[in-house]
Amino acid sequence: MVSNELTNERVKELAILGSTGSIGTQTLDIVRAYPDRYSVYALCAHRSIDKLVEQAKEFKPEVVCIADESLYGALSDQLSAISYQGKVWAGADSIAEVVTMPSVDVVVAAMVGYAGLRPTIEAIKAGKTIALANKETLVVAGEIICDLALQHHAPILPVDSEHSAIFQSLVGEDRSEIEKILLTASGGPFRTFSLEQMKTVTAADALKHPNWEMGAKITIDSASMMNKGFEVIEAKWLFGVPVEKIQVLVHPQSIVHSAVQFTDGAIKAQLGAPDMRLPIQYALSFPERLASDFPRADLFALKDLTFEQPDLNRFPNLGLAYEAMRRGGNIPCVLNAANEVVNLAFREGRCGFLQMSDVIAQTMVKAAFIAKPTYEDYVATDTAARRLAEQQLS
Ligand code: MG
Repeated sequence: MVSNELTNERVKELAILGSTGSIGTQTLDIVRAYPDRYSVYALCAHRSIDKLVEQAKEFKPEVVCIADESLYGALSDQLSAISYQGKVWAGADSIAEVVTMPSVDVVVAAMVGYAGLRPTIEAIKAGKTIALANKETLVVAGEIICDLALQHHAPILPVDSEHSAIFQSLVGEDRSEIEKILLTASGGPFRTFSLEQMKTVTAADALKHPNWEMGAKITIDSASMMNKGFEVIEAKWLFGVPVEKIQVLVHPQSIVHSAVQFTDGAIKAQLGAPDMRLPIQYALSFPERLASDFPRADLFALKDLTFEQPDLNRFPNLGLAYEAMRRGGNIPCVLNAANEVVNLAFREGRCGFLQMSDVIAQTMVKAAFIAKPTYEDYVATDTAARRLAEQQLS
């Protein structure tokens, strides 16, 4: 048997950004199952202090961080009440700092949206292993992220289920032999809706995802297929494949989590029951596999596995994502910023479902183009694009 040097490695210390969200809590399920392999150095959340305190009580991290500084007092009080002994930090700067601490081995980047960019950059610069769930980071600044990861030898391991499937299919393969990436999509709750029906759907309708349990922002992105557009961009950066070689397939059963077609015609896929704990665990344990009691896909129980072409007419966001990549520069950052604005507006009832794509498309037309953006250019682009998108909603 080939020995694996990682088997005897010491316990991995995790910094979990977005610990109270869907990916964060499922990451903690894995820590709970494997306390001899993983421990929590830092827990960071945006605003959910009650849940954060509960997690701190159980996992006893060295640092607890809250992004929203106005909640620092309340968080400190609650942590004192449970006799928490570690450090309590607040604000975006402290999250950007905690990821660089010498004890941290792996940063689980599971914050929502653009806010994940800065701490991920800092973690990469510190040479940390990144378990990346925050796809917006690669959508906004994929080129900078990949250059930095190479320069600082920081491995980026995908947590997104599709990208984990692609990553698993590529183990032992030469990336120059990829012919095509086959990226699957469930199609979301409106897969079979007509344009007429889609005009009047509400956030409550969109939040009923058929297969996956996720946070509110990503569930709306899934319903509008912006999530899949982002995943095309994410795959391009993670695997170094041009977007023309990334084919989206609507696969409503969510059993084939994605596949790779090679130059000899072979297709390798990863299949399984839809459960995010598997890709999270694989990102933490790679190159090993750890035993789990996650649900198994029963192939006998599956009546059929179907694959359809995505309909860009009903789901224009997917086309907008390809267009953003073709234009390049800061346009994917514009796409993301406009989407964050309309996604929130839709959840608050200030924007119609189909109107979301119109606002994003218009913002992409109106935004100033920068061919080779720096980090500061991305920050400025994000602010400007949000303003442009907001103007169209008022
Ligand atoms: Mg996904």
